[in-house]
Amino acid sequence: MHLMLIPPILLAAFAVTLAGLWLLDRRRLHLLPLAGAFAGFGAAILVQVLELPPQSAFSSVVSAHLYAAGAALLALGITWRSGRRGIPPPLLLLPVVMVATLAWFSYVDDRLLIRIYVLNFGLGLILLAGAWHARRLADGSLAERALFWLLLALALHFFPRTLLTAGNIGSRISDPASFGGTDFWVLTMYAGAVFGVVIGIALVLVTAADLMAGLQRERDTDALTGTLNRRGLDTRAAELLEQPAQRPIALVACDIDHFKAINDQFGHHAGDLVLERIGMLLRTSCRATDLVARIGGEEFVVVLPNSTAEEGFELAERLRRLVAETDVSRGPPVTCSFGVAQLHDLDRDVWAGLQRADRQLYAAKHAGRNRTIVEALDVAPLPPGTLLAMGGAPRLVAPALNRRQS
Ligand code: GH3
Ligand code: MG
Ligand code: MG
Repeated sequence: MHLMLIPPILLAAFAVTLAGLWLLDRRRLHLLPLAGAFAGFGAAILVQVLELPPQSAFSSVVSAHLYAAGAALLALGITWRSGRRGIPPPLLLLPVVMVATLAWFSYVDDRLLIRIYVLNFGLGLILLAGAWHARRLADGSLAERALFWLLLALALHFFPRTLLTAGNIGSRISDPASFGGTDFWVLTMYAGAVFGVVIGIALVLVTAADLMAGLQRERDTDALTGTLNRRGLDTRAAELLEQPAQRPIALVACDIDHFKAINDQFGHHAGDLVLERIGMLLRTSCRATDLVARIGGEEFVVVLPNSTAEEGFELAERLRRLVAETDVSRGPPVTCSFGVAQLHDLDRDVWAGLQRADRQLYAAKHAGRNRTIVEALDVAPLPPGTLLAMGGAPRLVAPALNRRQS
């Protein structure tokens, strides 16, 4: 008997681990239903293992409650982990219907065989519903995919298992009391417990990966504006540069005009708020594939894959007008100046291109601020030190500063 306590103890250990991981990072709310799920499964097995006779109506309904709650919580936690919010209706309805039906076939019409069908099919359906709502995980990382397929396998295993169980006891249904003690009952219970342990391990691995990714994100993110910091930009831009399909790459440098005056007049905190709001404007106005970073006190850059300098110019102008039209300081208008360049094939890293964008930015400052200047386009790399006179549209101002080096 004491060996049979191992599964509930293992399941309880996962419940405690998952709850402990939630304490480490309380924003990961999905860990709570998952901890509850393991507690529920552990308790359900405990009820069966302890002296409560498993075929009695009382223990069958209590353990069915616990199994149903455990399955619903497992499905809900994995669904939440996949990014979905709220409670999908099947995860609420199925357990209620299941428990009500079980109660009927325990107290009103005591039918063990029907209870076995309802319990197993019910659990299978709840978990199938969870797999359906969490199906986004099937396209995720290795650990996420493993979690999805394990959930699906756990869900599906209840169907053949039920038929086997029913077939196995069909021959002795005249004496249902003997079923609880059969090897077969022990085997199915262990199969469930083994599944629980494997899914518990997968969940702990996924959570550890989540925590690591969270730390990495924090390390690469500027806490004030939510944009990338210098390190984050470096890492992400290096990944971009390795993929030829991402070219051409446009680079936009942005600097707040007369920012020092905002700080001096309204204080550092007001300045921080302006930075925060401009960072937010930039982040929400760019594509998900663009990299937005704060690389200096009040200087931002945007790296645009699959974009020419021309398209970079269009984005910069859109951003410039947006900032000028938005009341970011809740007071006097704030403007930004922009410089745009395109990455050369010869550029070893993103900083070489950003340096050129920065030069256009300073030209924009000299030309009177609140404007965008784009580097001359379609020019073959020139020998170092060559001064390039630039024509073109009137918006491409300050030609003297368009010094181009290869
Ligand atoms: P320009 O139009 O030429 O860009 O003028 P500016 O005043 O914006 O530029 P300057 O480089 O003279 O001043 C930048 C100021 O930005 C100085 C510094 O105190 C302030 N600053 C840098 N980082 C932060 C920050 O994180 N928070 C706040 N509030 N201010 C910052
Ligand atoms: Mg400035
Ligand atoms: Mg500056």
